[in-house]
Parts: sequence; C-alpha cells; structure tokens
Amino acid sequence: MTTHHVISESVVQRLKCPQRLLIDGAWVHSSNGGSGEVRNPSDGKILTSYSVATRDDTNAAVQAARSSFDNAIWTKLTPAARGKILWKVADLMDENAEELAELEMLDAGKPFADARHGEVPFAADCFRYYAGWCTKIEGKTTELSTVPDARFHIYSRREPVGVAALIVPWNGPLVMASWKIAPALAAGCSCVVKPATQTPLSTLRLGELMAEAGVPPGVINILTGAGSEIGQQLAEHPDVDKISFTGSTSVGKSIIDAAKGNLKKVTLELGGKSPVIIFDDADLDAAVLGAAQAIFSNAGQVCVAGSRLYIQEDIYNRVIDGLSKFASELKVGSALNYETQMGPLISKGHLDSVCNFIESAKREGASTVTGGNKILDGGGYFLQPTVFADVNHDMHIVQEEVFGPVLVTMPFRSNEDISLIANDSQYGLAASIWTKDIGKAHKTAAAIRAGIVWINCHGIPDMSVPFGGYKQSGWGRENGLESLLQYMELKSVVAKL
Ligand code: NAP
Ligand code: MG
Repeated sequence: MTTHHVISESVVQRLKCPQRLLIDGAWVHSSNGGSGEVRNPSDGKILTSYSVATRDDTNAAVQAARSSFDNAIWTKLTPAARGKILWKVADLMDENAEELAELEMLDAGKPFADARHGEVPFAADCFRYYAGWCTKIEGKTTELSTVPDARFHIYSRREPVGVAALIVPWNGPLVMASWKIAPALAAGCSCVVKPATQTPLSTLRLGELMAEAGVPPGVINILTGAGSEIGQQLAEHPDVDKISFTGSTSVGKSIIDAAKGNLKKVTLELGGKSPVIIFDDADLDAAVLGAAQAIFSNAGQVCVAGSRLYIQEDIYNRVIDGLSKFASELKVGSALNYETQMGPLISKGHLDSVCNFIESAKREGASTVTGGNKILDGGGYFLQPTVFADVNHDMHIVQEEVFGPVLVTMPFRSNEDISLIANDSQYGLAASIWTKDIGKAHKTAAAIRAGIVWINCHGIPDMSVPFGGYKQSGWGRENGLESLLQYMELKSVVAKL
C-alpha cells in the first residue's frame, strides 16, 4: 500500500510552466518579466514560479474589470444564465477535484484527504450556494411615512457595487477565494483577485475553470505578486469600488487608509484569538476532542482557531491530560503522507514567527505542557502541537494571534463570570462553549462579543451561516445573504404618481 500521494501527470506538467496572470481573458506573463518562487511547505522546495504583476499589469486588470462592468458584459446575462455559469464552475471544480486538491496540498501544505474531501468540495459548494442567489435578488416597496395627501410608488433595487478587488490569505487559498468570488459574481460585480504570494496555484486553476464555465473575459482577473505592492495599489485605485480583504488586522487597517481616496466600500475579515470555554458539566470526551481540533486543525492557521482555552477548575487536570495525550499522538508531517494529521506551517518565516511567540511565552513565565519545538523532517516547516499552562491575561501569548498550533489554557472558578474574561481581547471573531446546560449555553453565547459562537462544537463552517468579526476582527460578514449584500448597493426609487 502506498503511504504517499503520487502527484498526477497533469499537475507535474502544470508546475513545469511558469504561472501567468489573468488579465481581460488572456493568460499573460508580467509585463516586465518579473517572477517569484512558489514553495512546498512540506519540504521547502520550489514548485514553480509565479508572475509578479507590475503597476501597469494591475492597471490593465482594473481597466478590464471596469470596462466589463461598465459595458454590462456580465450583468446583461439573465440572472438564470449567470446562476447556471456559477453552478458550472462548481461542477468543473468537482470534476477537477483531484488536481485542485493536489495543488492545495503542494502549495499550502494541506494533507491530501483534507484538501480532497474538505476544502475542494466545500469551495465548489460555495459556488452552488451563490448560483442559487442569482435569481433571488430583489427589492421591496415602501409607503411614505409622513407626507399627507400624495400618492407615491416607492421601491428599492439592489445593484452590484461595481469593480471588486478581492484579496485573499494563504491559510485556505481556494476556500477563501471562493467565499469572495462567488458572492461578488452573483451580485453582478467584475473582479480583480489577488491570492496570497505563498499560495497562488489553486486560484489560478480556478481562473481557468471559471473561463471554461463561461465567465466572460474581463469579469474575472487574477494578479499574483506582493500584497504590499499590488494589494496596496488595488486598495488605492480610483476605479475599484469595493475591496474585500481577508488577512491580518494590521494589513486590514492599512487597507482602510488606502481605500479612503474614493471611499471604497470595505469588507475586512481579520484576525482572532477565539476562546473555547469548557464547563464542568460538559461531555468531557467530546469537549477535549473539540478543543484539540479547534487549535490543531490546519496547524492552527485558521482565523477562528480556538487559541484560548478556559476550563472550569474542577475538571482542569482531566482536560489538560486529554489534550496532552491528543497532542502527543497527533501525526505531524508532510501533507503528501496519507498518515499525516497535521501538516506544516506555511513558510519558514511563519514558523520562526510562531516559535518567537513560544519563546516569549516561556520568558514571561508560561509553562509548557506539551510540544514547543520545531520538528526537523525533510526540510518542511513543522512544529509540535503546543500547549501552555500558567499563563495570565497580560501575556503576549494570551492577547496576540499566533496563527499556529499553540494553545494557552487557563482554569476559571465556578463563581467567576467567564464571559467577561473571554471578552478581554481586542478580537471578537469566534468562540465555543461546551456544556450540557442549555440555559447556561445560550446565556454565555449571548454574552460573548464575537461574530460566531458554537455550542458543543467548534469551527463548523457553512455557506448559509454568516460569520465575521466584532471589535478588531473586522468589518462586515462573509457567507449567507449578508455576504452577497456586501457586494451590492441599495437604491431607493421614489415616484410621484
Ligand atoms: P496578511 O499578511 O494580512 O495577507 C493577506 C493578504 O493581503 C495576502 O494576499 C497579502 O499579500 C495581502 N497584503 C499584504 N499586504 C497588503 C497591503 N498593504 N495591502 C493590501 N493587501 C496586502 O495575512 P496573512 O498573514 O497572509 O494571513 C493570516 C491572517 O489572516 C491572520 O491574521 C488570520 O486571522 C487572517 N484570516 C482571517 C480570516 C477571517 O475570515 N477572518 C480567515 C483567514 C485568515 P502577500 O501574500 O503578498 O503578502
Ligand atoms: Mg506555497
């Protein structure tokens, strides 16, 4: 039995070619020939190269999107026709799921089964979900509330916001790109997509599939290269109407500054430091497993990772023992190995950054329950699943987003209001609560300041469930109708009869 995934011939061939930009329906190299390296985080080796878009390339992509939008290239199709094309994108993603999963595995370090049976079908379902919305966009009629003795007909219309720049991080390249592209297209926008420098491959393949499905030239453009250049230019660009960004809180703030020139509409899905709260009446086996998965899935590189664990004092030791056992048994290694349960971190730089957090935690007096070290294995960026105890709320490791498999654990007393403690964070993205007491569960859910709260589960994503940030975790929501509406303007029409 093979234990390692063997890369398909089509992907081998694809990687032999330098990757290109998608501008106005054409696949082109950077106008000055600039390129960068795409690496495999499982072994640190170069996979292929990507084109670095120049300022001229970025302007050309924005102009292509602008002109396709202004000429109604996409919106003149009926909503049903657009819906069919989005559904076709999903079908093509399913047909090419093996290849997309391989790209995600190689480029982002996702264990193959996770990519093949998780990320890829989930991303395809996102296109199906928004395909359905294309035919359900509607306004409403209203009565004037104060004007006497006059007859009016008043209605509202939802219209696409225009050219949308979509900036995506590396931790879920295909899913994060789909969460933006599908609602933007369903709304009728034309798009310029900027995947993360570390992980362009699945988005570029998606660009080909979108063209094959019938998304017209210019409606989708894809630019690769540094966010500090291209992302910044898109955020400043006067012909971009909307920016949807997922990434770090610090870059999110710089986007707000950059976007103010033409007052772009801005959606920001930013960082988190999400609390997991286990009460002493919880199903302990389920809670321990849930808390472990909340921090170790995708090696903790998840915006909603449960990175602060609060445990009611009388069950503290049992939970810690369970977590230590889980962490020590977790198989960490190459994403290509079928036995791997936790793959690498995305880059050497990110591994070093996570290790710096670990060192600072130790310096500040935290004690290591388990893990804490790099794993040297074939050049990949591997880290042991790490659990800290003896922390306090002033420590960096408790307040800052690590974005790695690093958990801080804290006991709480039965007479303490745990929601107040959990809310002591600049972030407010997500939380989970583990208890069998239904009243306590819903009361705590209401008291937590976060965009999504899970009860007796963690990290369950679904297209129909909006999520996003309170506080410094962002502006706006992704998924559901809410996401679609964030790519639309609302117009009121008042007619005197
Ligand atoms: P990041 O550095 O903020 O990068 C995200 C994206 O923004 C990348 O495409 C990046 O390009 C681009 N970018 C960088 N500087 C830019 C600038 N000045 N203007 C415009 N775009 C710029 O974040 P990351 O470290 O890759 O991703 C991890 C972060 O994303 C974490 O904080 C995590 O919590 C957050 N995240 C949030 C969610 C959510 O839904 N709330 C989901 C996933 C991740 P380059 O790749 O070229 O730098
Ligand atoms: Mg990569």
